[in-house]
Amino acid sequence: MTETALFERIALIGIGLIGSSLARVIRAKGLARATAAYSRTAATRRRAAELGLVDQVIDDPAKAVAGADLVVIGVPVGASGEVAAAIAPGLAPGAIVTDVGSVKGAVIEAVRAALPEGVAFVPGHPIAGTEHSGPDAGFAELFEGRWCVLTPTADTDRRAVERVAALWRAAGSTVDLMSAEHHDTVLAITSHIPHLIAYNIVSTVADLEDRTKLEVIKYAAGGFRDFTRIAASDPVMWRDVFLNNRDAVLEMLATFNEDLARLQRAIRRNEGEVLEKIFTETRAIRRGVIEARQD
Ligand code: NAP
Repeated sequence: MTETALFERIALIGIGLIGSSLARVIRAKGLARATAAYSRTAATRRRAAELGLVDQVIDDPAKAVAGADLVVIGVPVGASGEVAAAIAPGLAPGAIVTDVGSVKGAVIEAVRAALPEGVAFVPGHPIAGTEHSGPDAGFAELFEGRWCVLTPTADTDRRAVERVAALWRAAGSTVDLMSAEHHDTVLAITSHIPHLIAYNIVSTVADLEDRTKLEVIKYAAGGFRDFTRIAASDPVMWRDVFLNNRDAVLEMLATFNEDLARLQRAIRRNEGEVLEKIFTETRAIRRGVIEARQD
């Protein structure tokens, strides 16, 4: 389906899983009249060109954003400020800059400080992804049926917010607006802590003696397998998520530890009814996830 172009020129700064998925939807649905991309390494730039993801792959971030009415930053959150500073000299007055980072408060602070006057920054986070990285990992359907959260601040230009929202809707997502602080708290528990648990359980297995480790891998289908998939997620992206959402993650982790201690105590004291009650409550959450079509 070809839709009407929403932007004249979209520049993608970072063309990994998220950037390349967006590039694919933009191309498939004709959402921009022209597209350009920049990536830090020659290898990724070459691959993006080979895959024909955008009209032009450019090796200079400031040149890549020249003439763009929308710039999408799709790099690890810890690099967002640096990347914003690198594109700043090339941004056209009136351009809209958005991002896709998994943490919002820290990114807003870093990016806003680097952008020039007259450029609107609309912070965003598509709640969609996989454990794979790089331009080959992307696909046009990634955002279909997913949420995309935008976290504008009081002074963010509302028309810019609406234009970025229109892009995500065209990509198949439902757009929600909330404060960056709320986003970071919610995502700490829905995404960041689950990843931390997966990294931890898989690393516990990695430290087991060899014979036990082989057994765990052999019988992985018992539950461990799902954790290994999550724990295969990009190490740099997730390092940056934890370092940039430290307060919310530590707060949620404290609650998580209390709840874990409650389970530990119930097991030690043989309190079957406590365990059963908790496990019954959690089933209801799963039903809610299925009903919300987020499974
Ligand atoms: P990715 O596939 O690993 O791609 C990362 C991109 O950022 C590449 O173009 C890479 O360039 C570039 N990059 C890496 N480090 C950089 C640095 N220090 N300075 C400048 N550029 C750098 O990552 P992704 O999964 O698309 O994630 C991008 C953003 O989306 C992150 O902020 C992440 O939090 C967010 N996000 C991810 C998911 C997910 O499930 N993966 C979901 C939602 C949001 P080179 O390849 O040239 O080094």
